[in-house]
Amino acid sequence: MGKLDCGCDLLGGLTEICKNQHITSGFIQAIGAVQKACIGFYDQQTHEYHITTLNRPLEIVSLIGNISIKDGEPFVHAHITLADETEQAYGGHLAPGTIVFACEFILEIFEGESFIRSFDNETGLSLWNI
Ligand code: ZN
Repeated sequence: MGKLDCGCDLLGGLTEICKNQHITSGFIQAIGAVQKACIGFYDQQTHEYHITTLNRPLEIVSLIGNISIKDGEPFVHAHITLADETEQAYGGHLAPGTIVFACEFILEIFEGESFIRSFDNETGLSLWNI
């Protein structure tokens, strides 16, 4: 378990922890709050992420993600649900640019061979090569 510092990038901070501790396979969950959020929706026709920026304080209702290897390095893939002061929820693929206000995370490390991501022609995504 751990926490991220106020002002750090949520996805970048989680990725840094995995890189520093050589974690290449695992499960992440987190709760807390962000100052600003960038969340993505993948367009299945154009194969592009549409990133929405929510430039206001939000609660992290739930973050779940996994850790595998992409381009030879630990890679965090996470999705997030956020809520505003009216309890309205927003969610999507966690993108860089989401800034932490406070964040408590739990990281579960898996033993054994790590999954490796490679480009998938059908979806345009980097998927596990299994
Ligand atoms: Zn995603």
